[in-house]
Amino acid sequence: MTARGLRLPTGKLLKLPAALGRVNRACSTFQTFAEVLRLPTRQMTKLVFPLQELQRQLTPDSRLDLHVKTFDPSLEDISKAESVFTATGRNRIEYLSSAVRLDHAPDLPHPEVCFIGRSNVGKSSLIKALFSLAPEVEVRVSKKPGHTKKMNFFKVGKYFTLVDMPGYGYRAPEDFVDMVETYLKERRNLMRTFLLVDSVVGIQKTDSIAIGMCEEFALPYVMVLTKIDKSSRGHLLKQVLQIQKFVDTETQGCFPQLFPISSVTYSGIHLLRCFIANITGNLKTDGL
Ligand code: GDP
Repeated sequence: MTARGLRLPTGKLLKLPAALGRVNRACSTFQTFAEVLRLPTRQMTKLVFPLQELQRQLTPDSRLDLHVKTFDPSLEDISKAESVFTATGRNRIEYLSSAVRLDHAPDLPHPEVCFIGRSNVGKSSLIKALFSLAPEVEVRVSKKPGHTKKMNFFKVGKYFTLVDMPGYGYRAPEDFVDMVETYLKERRNLMRTFLLVDSVVGIQKTDSIAIGMCEEFALPYVMVLTKIDKSSRGHLLKQVLQIQKFVDTETQGCFPQLFPISSVTYSGIHLLRCFIANITGNLKTDGL
């Protein structure tokens, strides 16, 4: 895919993207899509469409195993989606409130998306990466043992609400499961659940808690594979193919295309933003 026909504002030329060199969190905060488009095509594809890049490693026969183009927006669409995630005077992106019960959750008219996954899967890092164009937003983390686990609500202008669900583990207390279950089952404006799986270790027993809930409540959900910068390409490809097979054969409600991401290199983050803008009805693309 090339940047043909794409016109972008020149904008501020900020520092070199983190994806090009060593990890630099402060600098990656400024990684705008206009900068990404200045990369050589191969590097840009790897950063924006990591699944396509992985697919290139497969033999022609097995390429169809990965559904890389179920969601296939143009670069122009991806660029437009960026404005949804960019904080401005007119587009306020902010932490709203936290809740331990659904009846304490803010009552908002906007479409909602939620992020769910095991503790340590990289959920806070991903939400921070998605909000990197709104650096004032504070993504709260309550990880201390014994701390009450809460759902955190973020308002993204007039576009949508993003909910950071508490991470779960083996010893998820009963009331925690109840809270998440009730939210998933009853939240009327919930448009999509993003279920995070660590690409280094693949689907773990505890991940089945969330997969089971989404399937049981017939929710539309999407599998996001985190930390793709951590493995060798061979290992990552093996995990991705295994997870894809699982999605194809064992799930009903899961979106067929996987979303591999890295919150360190920003790989896959722009595509995920575009997908979220699209499914919340804020960007009409031909890509879905
Ligand atoms: P959470 O418990 O799901 O919110 O996980 P965190 O976002 O706090 O991440 C857990 C650990 O994984 C932290 O040490 C992060 O720095 C690390 N981490 C998160 N995302 C990535 C990633 O994309 N790449 C790498 N290499 N490490 C990551």
